[in-house]
Amino acid sequence: MLIDTHAHLDDKQFDADRDETIRRAFESGVKRIINIGAGLGSSRRSVALAEKYENIFCSIGLHPHYFMEYGEKSFDKILEFKALASSKKIVAIGEVGLDYFIHDGSLITEAQKDLQKKGFTLQLEFAKELKLPVILHCRGSQPIAPSAYREADDAYEDVLAIVSRFPDLTFVWHSFGGRLNFTEKLLIRKNYFFSFSGNITYNKSNAEIFSVIKKIPIEKIMFETDCPYLAPVPMRGKRNEPLFVKYVAQKVGEVKNIDSKHLAKMVADVFYLG
Ligand SMILES: [Zn+2]
Repeated sequence: MLIDTHAHLDDKQFDADRDETIRRAFESGVKRIINIGAGLGSSRRSVALAEKYENIFCSIGLHPHYFMEYGEKSFDKILEFKALASSKKIVAIGEVGLDYFIHDGSLITEAQKDLQKKGFTLQLEFAKELKLPVILHCRGSQPIAPSAYREADDAYEDVLAIVSRFPDLTFVWHSFGGRLNFTEKLLIRKNYFFSFSGNITYNKSNAEIFSVIKKIPIEKIMFETDCPYLAPVPMRGKRNEPLFVKYVAQKVGEVKNIDSKHLAKMVADVFYLG
């Protein structure tokens, strides 16, 4: 069953043709879509979208940059955020995590990291209360000069340190881009899943990401578009949409040498999508 486990159909890029885009996906074999919240507004819109379409489910979550933007004030919003959780179509908390990439090229400060960590942890506690799986967003600092890279900037290790304190929760590492040795650490644990997006199709065939994909058992792999972003080859550069999740599945099938028909059944169980 082909599922787009990570879409942002509430994005304004779909305002002109949202319904057609959704219809196109379902008519072409996509069975379920999970629309992802990445702030208070988008969580609200995700719930509304899921309430409207039978086969759209959703997550609610506050993206790590949300806590940098609103600072301490963002913690007052947590109550408003929790009030959204009554919909039966909510299947996960996310996307939540740590994002150390600053768009103006500067290095993230320790205070900014602390804000993100606090916001992340609060939402994990909420996921635990609701017994919901968590969709993780994780991005390292990628400073312009590689020489400026410091181990301490490694968001992946910091996310792992925090999620390790929640052994009962299920985690999906969204648009996964961890190194091979880091992936090996995650595979020891039963409660981690990995979702791949269109950016895997941008890589040269010898890229480390393909060793990572080979290493992960197929039962732990999910597919996503992260639309409207990250359109896979051959649609790269265009607006992405759930229909294109098939190209991500094909690529993973190619890498693992499995017919993509067989891989397309997938992890509906993690989210209880039926
Ligand atoms: Zn996303």
